[in-house]
Amino acid sequence: MSNHQLFARHAWLEQGWQQDVLISWNEAGTITAVAAGAVKPDGLPSVSWLLPGMPNLHSHAFQRVFAGLTEYRHHPTDSFWSWRQLMYAFAQHVTPAQLEVIATELYREMLAAGYTSVCEFHYVHHQPGGAPYPDAMAMSAALVRAAKATGIGLTLLPVLYQHSGFGQQPPEAHQQRFIHDKSAFLSLWDQLFVLCRNAGAKLGLAPHSLRAVSPEDLHAILAHIFAVDATAPVHIHVSEQQKEVDDCLAWSGKRPVQWLMDNFDVDARWCLIHATHMDAGEYQRAAASGAVVGLCPTTEANLGDGVFDFQHWKLQRGSWGIGSDSHIAVNAAEELLQLEYSQRLLFQQRNICCDAEEPDVASYLYRHALLGGAQASGRCIAGIAPGQQADFVELDGNHPLLMAIPAEYVLSTHLFASSRQSAIKQVWTRGIVRDIAQTSAGSEVARIRQKMIAAFAGETL
Ligand code: ZN
Repeated sequence: MSNHQLFARHAWLEQGWQQDVLISWNEAGTITAVAAGAVKPDGLPSVSWLLPGMPNLHSHAFQRVFAGLTEYRHHPTDSFWSWRQLMYAFAQHVTPAQLEVIATELYREMLAAGYTSVCEFHYVHHQPGGAPYPDAMAMSAALVRAAKATGIGLTLLPVLYQHSGFGQQPPEAHQQRFIHDKSAFLSLWDQLFVLCRNAGAKLGLAPHSLRAVSPEDLHAILAHIFAVDATAPVHIHVSEQQKEVDDCLAWSGKRPVQWLMDNFDVDARWCLIHATHMDAGEYQRAAASGAVVGLCPTTEANLGDGVFDFQHWKLQRGSWGIGSDSHIAVNAAEELLQLEYSQRLLFQQRNICCDAEEPDVASYLYRHALLGGAQASGRCIAGIAPGQQADFVELDGNHPLLMAIPAEYVLSTHLFASSRQSAIKQVWTRGIVRDIAQTSAGSEVARIRQKMIAAFAGETL
C-alpha cells in the first residue's frame, strides 16, 4: 500500500462524478495517475465523495480580525468608503507577529471550508508611521509562514501602492504602511521571489488599483517581473465602486477597465478583482483578453459594491473565480451560492449560473470557479488530473443531507442545502491530510482583536 494513493468511491473529475477512482501522486504532491473504474488495492482506505480543492483568489488576511465589527450605522449613507476608514484603523496596528497568528487561523478556517489555496493580496508592508521594517519582508514572511504551518497553497501578491487617488495624488497619513516607490518595490519583490521559491509559493504582483499606482512605474515593474518569471500572475482591484468609475472618467475620460485595456497588455496572467461596474464594451474586451475576473460575492454584498452582471460575462465566455476578500465569510460554497442568488434577485429568474452544456448550477459554478481560480493563482491546481496538485476535499457520505442522495445531486445539495461547511470531512493539500480542527488559535486571535480595539479606542472611525 502506498501512502501516495487514495481510493474514492466517487471523485469529481473533468467529466463530473466518476466511480471507484484510484488517484496516485508523487513525493512532491503532484498527481501522476487517475484511474476510474479501478479495483481498490488491499489495505488502502476509501473515501466517499472527493472534490478538487477550491482556490481562493482574493484575500486580505488581516481583515478577518474585524469581520463583524462594521455592521453598525455611523452615518445614513455608510458605504465602502466609510468601511475603509475602519479597515485603515486596524491596518495601523497589526504587527508581523499578530499577522502570522491571524493568517494561520484564517488559513485553517479556509481549509476547513473547502479552500486549498489562497492568493494573498498583501498591502500592509511597513511599520506604523511608514518606516520600513529592518527586514523589508517582515509582514510578507509572516504570511508565508502561516501558509506553511497550515499547508494551504499560497500565491503571494505584494501590493504596489503609491497614491491616494487618480492623477498621482499624495498618499494619506493612514496609507503610509502601504507605500513604495519603484526601486524599493523592486527590491522587495526580488527578495520575495527567493523567499517564495524556497517555500513552494508562487509570487505575483498586485498593483492595488488604477487610482493607487503610477502607470509609468507599473510598466517598468511589470517588465522586470515578467523577465524573471513570465508566468507571474498580476491582480488589480478595478471598477469595484461607482465612485471609482466616476473618478476615472473625470481623470482620463475613460472608464477603468477601458483605460486599463488601452494602456496595458492585459492577458491571461491578469486577474481583475471585482470588475463590478463594466459597460458592454468593457465586458467584451475584458473577456477577450483572457483575464480572469475575481468575484468576491459575500464581500461585494457586504460592502454594497453592486452586482456583477454574470449573464453578460457568461455570454462573452469570460473566465472567473472566487475570493473571500474581507473575510466577512470564509466558505467556498457560500461564495458560489451568493453569486447565483445575486443573479436570481437581479433577473427574477432561477438557475442562472449554468448553460446548455452544463445545466446543473452547482457543477457549472464549481467547475468554472476552479479553473478560473487556478489560472489566477498561477499554479497547477485545476482539478483531479495528472500534473495537478493533489488538493482534495472530502464530503462526508454520512452527513444527514447527503445520505441517499444520487450522485448528480450531491454537489448541489452541498452547495444549496447543507450548511455548506458541515459536510466537509477531510482536506488534503499536496497529498497530505491537513489539520482542520478548531484549535486554541482562535483565542489568540481574540486577544489580538481586543488589543487592537483598545489601541484605537478614542480614534475617530
Ligand atoms: Zn480586495
